[in-house]
This record gives sequence, C-alpha cells and structure tokens, in this order.
Amino acid sequence: MTQKYTITVAGGGSTFTPGIVLMLLKESSRFPIRKIMLYDNDPERQKIIAEACGIYLRENAPEIEFGYTDDPKEAFTGIDFVLAHIRVGKYAMREKDEKIPLKYGVVGQETCGPGGIAYGMRSIGGVLEILNYMEAYSPDAWMLNYSNPAAIVAEATNRLRPDSKILNICDMPIDLEEKMAGIAGLKSRKEMQVGYYGLNHFGWWHQIYDKAGNDLMPVIRAYIAENGFPVSAEQQVDDSWAHTFKMAREVYAIDPETIPNTYLKYYLFPYEIAAGLDPEYTRANEVMDGREKKVFSVCREIIEKGTSSGSNFEADAHATYIVDLARAIAENTQERFLLIVPNEGAIENFERTAMVEIPCIVGKNGYEKICQGKIPRFQKGMMEQQVNVEKLVVDAWIEGSYQKLWQALTLSKTVPSAAAAKVILDEFIQANEDYWPELT
Ligand code: NAD
Repeated sequence: MTQKYTITVAGGGSTFTPGIVLMLLKESSRFPIRKIMLYDNDPERQKIIAEACGIYLRENAPEIEFGYTDDPKEAFTGIDFVLAHIRVGKYAMREKDEKIPLKYGVVGQETCGPGGIAYGMRSIGGVLEILNYMEAYSPDAWMLNYSNPAAIVAEATNRLRPDSKILNICDMPIDLEEKMAGIAGLKSRKEMQVGYYGLNHFGWWHQIYDKAGNDLMPVIRAYIAENGFPVSAEQQVDDSWAHTFKMAREVYAIDPETIPNTYLKYYLFPYEIAAGLDPEYTRANEVMDGREKKVFSVCREIIEKGTSSGSNFEADAHATYIVDLARAIAENTQERFLLIVPNEGAIENFERTAMVEIPCIVGKNGYEKICQGKIPRFQKGMMEQQVNVEKLVVDAWIEGSYQKLWQALTLSKTVPSAAAAKVILDEFIQANEDYWPELT
C-alpha cells in the first residue's frame, strides 16, 4: 500500500497557506497525503484561512483528513512533516521593521539590514517553539522551515538545536533559477545543475550547466548584463519586485563572473535604495493592501457562499519545491537543493561554523553537502562581514545582550555608523517589547 503522509502547516493563518494546501493537493499523486493540519497561535486569523481551506478540501479531496487548531499537542502529534512559515509579529511588526530604519535614511527591508535583524530577534523564539513541539509530540518528523529571516533562524537552530531534524530552505534561488532556465531556453530549473555559494539572501551562482554538461553561464550572463532578471507574463509582480529583478543588472556589473541573488542590492546599494523608498508606504503596506487583503477576502467569500467553486483560490506553483524536498526525505530521491547548512569546509576558505547556502543532495537521512571550493576575495569579504552580523544577532538573543545587538547593527553594511545603529536599536527595543528577550 502506498504510504500517505500527515502534514502540519505551522503558521496556518499565513497568506501563503491556501496556496500551499492547494499545491499539496495538486501534487498528491507524487506525494500522497493522509491528513493536513493547520496550526497557528492566532486562532482568529487562522480560522478564516482554515475554514476556507476546509471547504475547498471537502469539495475537491474529501479523502484527505483536515483540521486546524491552536493546541500544540493536537497539531504536532502523529505527523511526518512540519511546513513552517510563521511571521512572529505579523505584518504590523514588519511595517515597523521597515519604517524605523527609513526614518534615519537607512534601508528598511524585511530580511536585509536592520529590519531583518529586528525580525530575526522575533523569529528565533517562534521557530524554536515549533521545533520543540514537533520533537515532543512527533520525534521522527522533519521540519521544513522557510520562515524568515532564514539566515538568522538557521544560525540559531544550528547553535541551539544542532541535532534537530530541520531543513532551512529559501524560495528566492528557486525563482531565480526558473528565470535563468527560461533565459537558457530550458523548460525548468530541474534541467540545470548549479554551483552556488553564499549566505541566505546573500549568494552567487558560479556555475550553471545543462543536463549534457554544456556551460549555460555565458548566455545567462549576457542576458542579465543587459536586462537583469526577466519577469514572465504570467508572473504578476508588484512594482517593488519588478525593480528588484531589473536592478540585478547593476548588481551583476560589480562581479560579471558570477550571477547574484537579487537581495544583494540592499547591501551593495543601501543608500540609493533607501533614498528611493517611501518612508510612509513600504513593502509591508504593499502586501497588507495587496496579497493579505486579497487572500483574506477570497477566504471570506468562500466561507459566506459555503463553496469554493468559482473562487479565486490558486495553487502556489513555485512552492512545489516543498513537495520535492519532502519527497527527497520520505522517498530518498537524492535530489539536489540549495539548503542553508553548516559550512564545515564546503566553502574551503570561509568560516567553518557559518551557516552557508550551497547545493546539497537530500535523502532519507538528511543532506550531503556539495563542496564549492574556494570563493573569490570580493564575495568572501562581503560574506565575512554579513555572517558576523548574523552571529552577533544570535549571540544577542541568547545572552540578552544590548551590546552585541548594537555591534550587529553597526557591522551591517546597510548601516552608515554606530550612532545610526544606536538610534535605530533604541527604537526597535521599544517597538519589540512584546517579542524580544530583555536586553541589558
Ligand atoms: P503572515 O503574517 O501572513 O502569516 C504568518 C502567520 O504566522 C500568522 O498567521 C501568525 O499568526 C503566525 N505565527 C506567528 N508566530 C507564530 C508562532 N509562534 N506559532 C505559530 N504561528 C505563528 O506571513 P506571510 O507573509 O504569509 O509569511 C510567513 C513566513 O513565510 C514569513 O516568515 C515569510 O518571510 C516566509 N516566507 C518565506 C519564504 C521562503 O522561501 N523563505 C517565501 C515566502 C514567505
């Protein structure tokens, strides 16, 4: 008999949950599902998403058991996988992460720079909590974590729970690889084999081959030098994302040997980017007025009508990598993924204890790393600065240290001075009093 899997989605009230649930359903011939459980610590928010997903599942896959809860024991007992996408503090806090630095002319972004540091200080506890529940109630389960800021979360989980069954993964390289496959005339990123090194939201492709071993870098580099990353007709992106994809051209120009992750723009052009952002209306506002409103209004409509037929519920096509990853573990597929893992020599001339993003082969017993050799001085210099920011944030969280967090902000390439770091930190502390550990 085919094995069927039980999955808990942590952060059940997330705007991404309906897309993930529908994607799981669409992929169920590859990855059969017995039960989907949603878990969130905000029951009111989750109820709207969960009731709508419940109606959809009853109508389209009545054989799949479905439930939702804010009770950890009920959520995490008897499961095979946790898909974790929590946002501690929700969009209200993301708005503060972005707007506080911008008041001082410093880039305000979800995962990069001061905003990412503030978000990291909130996320560490939330992700550890989910991991603890999973280990208490389903010790054999795996957690596939894509909660942000993934770099800081991965550093914390590796430091505090080194033996836990958690894989930290990000969808940005996947999206960019799809774009590059398109540039090279391939149908899918799965037809490429890549070499990549970096930290999360801070990395570079240095090799891209097709299945026959032909070098695709020249054609992709030529395209990006001219255009940045393309946006396909069916990919509807907000203006801020369109700007990011286009700006890859400027980021690429700094090192034309490699292809950069788009998030590097925040570190390489921090002042130009900050100057172009509206301190009164940031990406958080764009999402609250856009995706969040849309997802919740579709869910409310489904609930009111009592049916999902004719609704705008859509599977998240990009999220199929989550099923690929779960299958790699469940069925030992030995597929390659970019994961955020302890370096331990995989990047030869870089700190051994760093959590680096590199290609790995994933199977039943976890991952094997694919060595990326020595990296160039420019990337090494940038990564050394950034990895120490991330390590200092985790130190600050563990030790409750104001000093270390001030150092982290000061060291960030996005922050111009220790003075700017201090005013931003002091405002962050007030804004995050319900979420951060006390800093002394
Ligand atoms: P959202 O605010 O819509 O949803 C997050 C949910 O998490 C909320 O319902 C909230 O109540 C819940 N939550 C917060 N703390 C919790 C806790 N301790 N326990 C249980 N639930 C908790 O946010 P979103 O925009 O859907 O994003 C969710 C997460 O996924 C974010 O961290 C985002 O950055 C991340 N994300 C990651 C990737 C990636 O590939 N790395 C891609 C997209 C989104």
